[in-house]
Amino acid sequence: MKINGSEKLREECAVFGINIKEVEAGGVTYNALLALQHRGQEGCGIAVTSDNRIFCQKGRGLVGEVFTGEKLALLPPSASAIGHNRYSTSGGDSIYNTQPFVTEYLTGRIATSHNGNIVNAKELRTELKKNGIKYEATSDSEVLSTLIAYYAVQLGSVKKGAIKAANSLKGAFSVVVLCDDGSIIAFRDPDGFRPLCIGNNSKGMAVASESCALDSCGFSFLRDVEPGEIIEIKDGKIADSELAILNKTKGNGLCIFEYVYFARPDSFIDGLSVYEARYNMGKILAKEHPVEADIVCGVPDSGLEAAAGYAEESGIPLVQGFVKNRYIGRSFIYPSQTQRENAVRLKLNPLASNIKGKRIVLVDDSIVRGTTSEKIIRALKMAGAKEIHMRISSPPFCHTCLYGTDIDSEENLIANKMTTHEIGKKIGTESLGYISIEGLKEACHKSTRTFCTKCFTGDENHYDIKKNELEVEKDGRKSIFSS
Ligand code: SF4
Repeated sequence: MKINGSEKLREECAVFGINIKEVEAGGVTYNALLALQHRGQEGCGIAVTSDNRIFCQKGRGLVGEVFTGEKLALLPPSASAIGHNRYSTSGGDSIYNTQPFVTEYLTGRIATSHNGNIVNAKELRTELKKNGIKYEATSDSEVLSTLIAYYAVQLGSVKKGAIKAANSLKGAFSVVVLCDDGSIIAFRDPDGFRPLCIGNNSKGMAVASESCALDSCGFSFLRDVEPGEIIEIKDGKIADSELAILNKTKGNGLCIFEYVYFARPDSFIDGLSVYEARYNMGKILAKEHPVEADIVCGVPDSGLEAAAGYAEESGIPLVQGFVKNRYIGRSFIYPSQTQRENAVRLKLNPLASNIKGKRIVLVDDSIVRGTTSEKIIRALKMAGAKEIHMRISSPPFCHTCLYGTDIDSEENLIANKMTTHEIGKKIGTESLGYISIEGLKEACHKSTRTFCTKCFTGDENHYDIKKNELEVEKDGRKSIFSS
């Protein structure tokens, strides 16, 4: 769970693209970005085409804050658009890194929206700079957009340029590209780290990070974009699709945190309902870590479905444990230290009448640093809880990640430094139980993909995102490669 940055597990960016018969693509994209707001709140943008030109508006903040009526009206009527919600990891939180990126090149222009993390961006940036290309931004997404344009000039089409660029990339990328003729190109990395799906209706076609955006905009879910697939959408239909991105890495797959935490519960990803996955996680947690208790409570928001599953399996009643203040903006400030310490209760207050004198099974999605869990447990005990047995619907989060979290050092992860017993004592619970990796995979078994679980299991390659260096353990010795 994340409360205003105190437990900072990365939320993912969101991408959206649309090609329809009517000139309302900008407005539909606005609605889609609202539906995808949970994937990123730092900034957002919309690009549309008109008369072979690309118009883009973007800014820092939530979709509703950035896109006032006046700002939306600056976008000309268009049948094609792409959009993006940003959660900054690579490149920092700057207006220059807000997407879509518009790239002009010798024979045209494109706009690009990207979700993921490109591991070899620094290396590619250096190569492109040698060829005289200048950058405004610092993010890996700008490198991607520039690379597509660079190869589009060489190969004579944006689609060919995108295939060549995508085959040069290492890492996680779900991408939508708006071409100046209004066509949309969408592709997903060959490991399928990040979700991407397509939908249609009588007006045309849309592509989105999550199916909840298709539902919200009146599109029927058609299918997921396959890992390694590139799709060209023209005249409201799929004009072409092929499995053309081939540089798959052994042992990777869909980021399992999409099911645990990142995605919205009403989305379907790779054939599995996110709600069902989380509910199953709760049921499996109840089997793996049973306990005698009076009530089960979920920590809002992403602990709620797993709590429902735990209650169903254990037969212990599910009770609302907290009232969440939904009206606090992303940027609220605390004028004093005392108020900072009360931040959790400002956003999430225990429902004393439900929990007083009760033995509680408290279900949450993850523990990162442990500071938020500690505050929540303290607040519950102050409100009269008798015992708290914490159950976590992901395994101990021990390792930093190349592709999905912004924890820059394993030192910041409590499970990397302490045993489960020690963590339980530190955060103040009577008992603590994490779902096993096998249990988590079992909960997601209806997904059509294999999974990445490296933040639980570790990897021989440890990557420090901040330094953009790859540290490779070989023959018991560590060496650092700049990438
Ligand atoms: S290491 Fe963890 S957070 Fe990163 S992609 Fe894999 S499962 Fe997701």
